[in-house]
Amino acid sequence: MTDFTKLSLSEAVAGLRSKQFSSRELTAAHLEAMEAARSLNAFLLETPEKALAMADAADAKLAKSEGGILEGAPIGIKDLFCVNGVKTTAGSKILGEFIPPYESTVTGNLWADGAVMLGKLNMDEFAMGSSNENSAFGPVINPWQRDGSNTALVPGGSSGGSTSAVAADLCLAAIGTDTGGSIRQPAAFTGLVGIKPTYGRCSRYGVVAFASSLDQAGPIAKTVTDAALMLGSMCGYDPKDSTSLDVKTPDFVAACTRSLKGLRIGIPKEYRMDGMPSEIETLWEQGTQWLRDAGCEIVDVSLPHTKYALPAYYIIAPAEASSNLARYDGMRYGTRVDGADLNSTYERTRAEGFGEEVRRRIMIGTYVLSAGFYDAYYIRAQKVRARIAEDFRNAWEVCDALLTPTTPSAAFGIGEVSDDPVQMYLNDVFTVTANLAGLPGISIPAALDHQGLPLGLQVIGKALDEETCFAVGATIERAAEFNAKPTHWW
Ligand code: GLN
Repeated sequence: MTDFTKLSLSEAVAGLRSKQFSSRELTAAHLEAMEAARSLNAFLLETPEKALAMADAADAKLAKSEGGILEGAPIGIKDLFCVNGVKTTAGSKILGEFIPPYESTVTGNLWADGAVMLGKLNMDEFAMGSSNENSAFGPVINPWQRDGSNTALVPGGSSGGSTSAVAADLCLAAIGTDTGGSIRQPAAFTGLVGIKPTYGRCSRYGVVAFASSLDQAGPIAKTVTDAALMLGSMCGYDPKDSTSLDVKTPDFVAACTRSLKGLRIGIPKEYRMDGMPSEIETLWEQGTQWLRDAGCEIVDVSLPHTKYALPAYYIIAPAEASSNLARYDGMRYGTRVDGADLNSTYERTRAEGFGEEVRRRIMIGTYVLSAGFYDAYYIRAQKVRARIAEDFRNAWEVCDALLTPTTPSAAFGIGEVSDDPVQMYLNDVFTVTANLAGLPGISIPAALDHQGLPLGLQVIGKALDEETCFAVGATIERAAEFNAKPTHWW
């Protein structure tokens, strides 16, 4: 018998179309795997009745050879996306029992293409974090462990529930969001593919806002082709999001088999960081060689403002967050903690409703936006952001895409970094630049480190050129032959 949970999304969709199995069977197998994996804490909400109802509806369509490109495929949804009638928490207590009366455009697009919803996935509170330790509902555990050790590792963040669930074969694929790296970093920590598309590709309508000028939705999947299939369904112009781009969605799956002959790949010298483990450096060189072997021309490039990216991000993202999160005042929806008067009700609600990291970001954001500091911090960070975007534009004069490591380390243990926010922020050093410049970036699993943990390589592309990201990503995937899986211990 097929072990349904071991299939890739593309294999599952093909099997459903050719009626080798039903969506009900496929969905039931995943629901069973989810139940047996509750120790990972990947799901905040399982929706088995909804899943089986959606599966039956998909089977009815498949029986008539109808249905969309994801018809009958069970997937997981990061709990930042509003799904009509389903509790949404954003990993926070402040939303209380919030049940959105509307659907995010991205999830709506997936359902329209026939995807089946398994449940809502755990995440760092309001997507602020790199380890999932900031969830108000407890950390997520990475199914991967170091060789010979049972220390619990983080799955990365903030889309850690999404990556843990896909890596443990609880869903065929999942969706996440990426404001500074939250799809790519957790994908790298769990041996998966994750892509943050160009800013504006996916609608942000119905996605709980963190930093609106940086937030983008994207897929987390087992293979590059699966990620392409998912993204094709997720994106598209949406008049409900004023930053949505009115462009046609290309055939991302077709791009996965493109030849790379003559493609120019830039290696940015500023991404060679002091103190970076030598195996990451070696993997980066290996990746460069794979692309050379595939017919690419390798060019050295310079992105001189890279070192300012992280400080600029940690001004801009908290500034936007402090503004976006002002709406959680206990008045309209969510948690309310009553005080003696209106001000103390606000204060108590926000003090009790938000976790430590969210409070830290709101305070930093409010500070950098305050009169007297606005020019020195916020305006300056915006200027840095413009320089970073310019660095990339200059690089595109000599290359078509960039190759970098995704993260400066493999997954770390729960509690190992959490008491040092600055150390935690360093996780995003290679990923935030693409958010600041609005560019697409994909992470592909490329090797295991000396501890037996996955490491990823990142490809950053030009705006709206996800196709090159997929083409290069698929070539790396074929060359790396990464097929390691975590040992089943949960
Ligand atoms: N780790 C980064 C942060 O904490 C990025 C988070 C994200 O991309 N949502 O802000």
